[in-house]
Amino acid sequence: MSFISSDFRTLLMSRHLFVTTALPYANGPLHIGHMMEYIQADIWVRFMRMQGHRVHWMGADDAHGAPIMIAAEKAGQTPEAFVRAVAATRSRYLQGFSISIDHWHSTDSPENTALAQDIYRKLKAAGFIAARTIEQFYDPVKGMFLPDRYIKGTCPKCGAEDQYGDSCEACGAVYAPTELVRPRSTLSGAAPELRQSEHFFFRLSDPQCVAFLREWTASGALQPEVLAKAQEWLGKEGESDRLADWDISRDAPYFGIPIPDAPGKFFYVWLDAPIGYLASLKAYFDGGKARANGEDRSFEAFLAAPDTEQIHFIGKDIVYFHVLFWPAMLRFSGYKVPNRVNVHGFIQLRGEKMSKSRGTGLDPLRYLELGMHPDWLRYYIAAKLNANVEDFDFIPEDFIARVNADLVGKFVNLASRAAGFVAKRFEGRLAERFDLAGEAMLGQIAAAADEIAALYEAREFGKAVRRIMELADAANQYVDQRAPWVLAKDPARARELHEVVTTSLEAFRRLALLLAPVMPTVTREAGRLLDAQMDAWSRLTDALPPGHAIAPYSHLLSRVEERQIDALFGIAAAPAAPPTAQSAPKTTAPAKAMSDDRSPGTITIDDFAKVDLRIARIVAAERVEGSTKLLKLTLDLAETNDEGKPRLRTVFSGIQSAYAPEALVGQLTVVVANLAPRKMKFGVSEGMVLAASETSEDNRIYLLSPDEGALPGMKIS
Ligand SMILES: [Zn+2]
Repeated sequence: MSFISSDFRTLLMSRHLFVTTALPYANGPLHIGHMMEYIQADIWVRFMRMQGHRVHWMGADDAHGAPIMIAAEKAGQTPEAFVRAVAATRSRYLQGFSISIDHWHSTDSPENTALAQDIYRKLKAAGFIAARTIEQFYDPVKGMFLPDRYIKGTCPKCGAEDQYGDSCEACGAVYAPTELVRPRSTLSGAAPELRQSEHFFFRLSDPQCVAFLREWTASGALQPEVLAKAQEWLGKEGESDRLADWDISRDAPYFGIPIPDAPGKFFYVWLDAPIGYLASLKAYFDGGKARANGEDRSFEAFLAAPDTEQIHFIGKDIVYFHVLFWPAMLRFSGYKVPNRVNVHGFIQLRGEKMSKSRGTGLDPLRYLELGMHPDWLRYYIAAKLNANVEDFDFIPEDFIARVNADLVGKFVNLASRAAGFVAKRFEGRLAERFDLAGEAMLGQIAAAADEIAALYEAREFGKAVRRIMELADAANQYVDQRAPWVLAKDPARARELHEVVTTSLEAFRRLALLLAPVMPTVTREAGRLLDAQMDAWSRLTDALPPGHAIAPYSHLLSRVEERQIDALFGIAAAPAAPPTAQSAPKTTAPAKAMSDDRSPGTITIDDFAKVDLRIARIVAAERVEGSTKLLKLTLDLAETNDEGKPRLRTVFSGIQSAYAPEALVGQLTVVVANLAPRKMKFGVSEGMVLAASETSEDNRIYLLSPDEGALPGMKIS
């Protein structure tokens, strides 16, 4: 009965959230700034899902515009093919960091064309589109009107040099390229000529627009500092000429959506980019994914419903578009306006803007390729985030300290210590009850859940994480006081030991649930270890049952090593490479010479020392085409090549029948590092991974893995 009523209550209180993150421009790979936004949104989305709310999170590539057209031309491709190739790279980033976007689409799609043209027609019918002949810069060398981004000059507002034609990075001003002081074409270097062309404008200066925006911006949709900025743009009451109309058309040649009834004219990319949020949602509905996610209404009904909350996550650089143009476009074309725009600052490296060209970037794929755990970065970013529009610093030492001290030292250790006792002493079963002395601590964690939930909902992730770590401190104090390692020495106190380790596993379970939005991978592993459901916030009260069987402890999370950070930022580390296979001693059949009284097969320590065994992380694993036995493993042994760059090894291993390749990625194992390279049919194998097998039965192969704390490159002796 209570089951039904609580489900019913959840249904009544369940919110319907249409969430978006800014659409990355499809002219290149994702960078750490994108990932920071995705991680922020993902934490919030996962938290809301754990509360029983329905979230539909849409992403897409922002595919149109002159920069892509020009980049494709340089690459000798059509813009469509160029964009497709970039889009194909997205899932590696999204999956790699456990980003739970429900649908990924493109602004270069039939849905977006239909929606953009519909919105335009409605705006035009309502009198919000004006046609004007303007003078625009034309590159006489390239033979085309120049997109704003291809004109540079001095900012007309603040005088900053080398600014783009549409906005100033120094003061944030938005302006027309013709306002730039001393303009030049960045395509040809030529001084651009002014030529006339008819353009279409969205009439943002219309008093109805201004009145609507005053009301909407103050409706609670914005953070206080964003509201202040919007009010500055809007000006005081009566100053309705503060907002300029917005030029939404571009002349051919242009990669974009044709403007209806206007041959040779296309929508400016910034008009159709945010409409891409709706296009992605439409494709998600039309493709049946919304239904699979529990939403039975049509796209139109869902989008228009008063209980649908439309929530955008964006960076501070695109606020103008999202708090002025976008809501006004939606409002005056008859669509529902956004409920909330969450703006974040930028992630910097030691106070400097991350830049690939300056070599100061944190490349997300490189991070993954080095075998660094996605939850490390998610946790660190969570710890740094708050609900304000603030930049924050990625500080490598701080990253190492927080991951190693908080996550491994305080959190994972609770499980690894206790689970070991449960496995070795109690046949993998928990005690019949919790330790009395630990109940206050368990109660403390449960009592903090509401406070932590409120912090998550308000996007105060740094505060939430700090609070959770305070609770982890309390749990560790409890374990230290009860000292299970002391109890373990006294057989008469076995029951007490059992209750203490059971209590600390329950504390771990509760903390893992509280951290679940931040650390999905570790939480999933924790659920597997404890054989417990970790999918809902309400599970906090589902304590581990008496006598419950848990799984054998397997590695949950390792420590970050300084050399991983060095490799990540391309700092040449001192060569930690083991002797290469080339320098390995030649084998000379020593077994025949064993005629002394040592038992057959005995070797000396010196013999053993010839084998260079190392810890390796499996960075990638894939099936080998044409082989039913082999997996191709890419291993990280923390080696560097001659140029000081990280070197990965390829090893072929006959474990295909026992392991799904995707299950191996990220795991640590043991490698014979100085085995002479072996040329195989499928490639060269640079070592051998160690596995145990009792029989020759194919599926009974067990790959060796080290205990918690071991790191790639460590020598085994
Ligand atoms: Zn400026």
